[in-house]
Amino acid sequence: MTRFTYTGNPARILFGAGRSAEVGSAVETLGCRRALVLATQHQKADAEALSERLGALSVGVYAGAVMHTPVEVTETALKIVAETGADCVVSLGGGSTTGLGKAIAYRIDLPQVVIPTTYAGSEVTPILGQTEGGRKTTVRHARILPEVVIYDPDLTLGLPVPMSVTSGLNAMAHAVEGLYAQDRNPISTLMALDGLRAFATSLPVLVRSPQDTEARAEALYGAWLCGTVLGTVGMALHHKICHTLGGSFDAPHAETHAVMLPHTAAFNAEAAQAELAAAAELFGGSIGGGLWDFAKSIGAPLSLKEFGLVEADLDRAADIATENPYWNPRPIDRASIRTLLQKAWEGVRPD
Ligand code: NAD
Repeated sequence: MTRFTYTGNPARILFGAGRSAEVGSAVETLGCRRALVLATQHQKADAEALSERLGALSVGVYAGAVMHTPVEVTETALKIVAETGADCVVSLGGGSTTGLGKAIAYRIDLPQVVIPTTYAGSEVTPILGQTEGGRKTTVRHARILPEVVIYDPDLTLGLPVPMSVTSGLNAMAHAVEGLYAQDRNPISTLMALDGLRAFATSLPVLVRSPQDTEARAEALYGAWLCGTVLGTVGMALHHKICHTLGGSFDAPHAETHAVMLPHTAAFNAEAAQAELAAAAELFGGSIGGGLWDFAKSIGAPLSLKEFGLVEADLDRAADIATENPYWNPRPIDRASIRTLLQKAWEGVRPD
């Protein structure tokens, strides 16, 4: 690629085991003194421990984050921000918790410290997906981008193996689509390839030894790289299909990415073979079949029917995923997307 435009998002990244202990100084560095700690109900106890660690710098915990960032939840959180006089948020959790912090920041520009505990990558993107009245919409704005991210692999030791696997494949999908993005640049490509390498190395270890601290650190490093790619360059068919299946059929986020990735990669490889060649090498030479074999070897779900999607849904999914034009390396038509969805639904290995 001889011509490119590189625009990086500002980022302050604190990476390393034990670094969540620095959350107080991260808050103070932002000029803040009253942090509201956000989490899901599931991670409430961890959020309370973090709030205690913050001491006088915390105004409390709101553990109401849920998947897909419903606007009603954001409105409740905004009331708590107003009541407590919070001047920043500390989001502890996966993409759902990060999404709530971003939704608050988008509306009232509170600074965010994010401590990710999955590999989704939302913490390094200026993108917010939210739902209102059952419709998921996406906005992109500089206010949405978190100011500080603390990657502490110790906090991911308890991420269950099935979630580690699907969340890792979710992250890898950002990298694969980044490799053929229309606005890719040499830096996004370097990050994408090293992100894929990090997961190709760490996920098989984590499946056998979930407490392996080196592999946990490697996976979280991969999450940062892949998330940064997502936040920097445009995504295509894969993300469009996953957004459709999640938004209109309530398919689970990370699992859907995990199932779709080998199929969308195989589909786009026909038009982006050169761009995907180095990634294909990491998975035995064929990007689609290689990713499918990798996913199978680490126990990932392989078919959409495992999530209760019925075959009849595929027609409507193909309609929605092709109704508005968007850029993709390989031209898209409804019939080929319907065929691709059928293969992913059945769980057959792509070529
Ligand atoms: P999640 O945040 O919904 O987490 C799933 C569950 O796992 C939650 O109950 C959570 O509390 C729990 N959990 C998280 N980390 C854990 C840990 N270490 N140990 C034990 N339990 C843990 O799942 P996700 O896949 O991280 O995020 C999905 C959401 O993020 C979706 O809504 C998706 O749209 C969004 N997302 C947004 C972007 C973006 O750039 N805007 C990027 C990726 C994902």
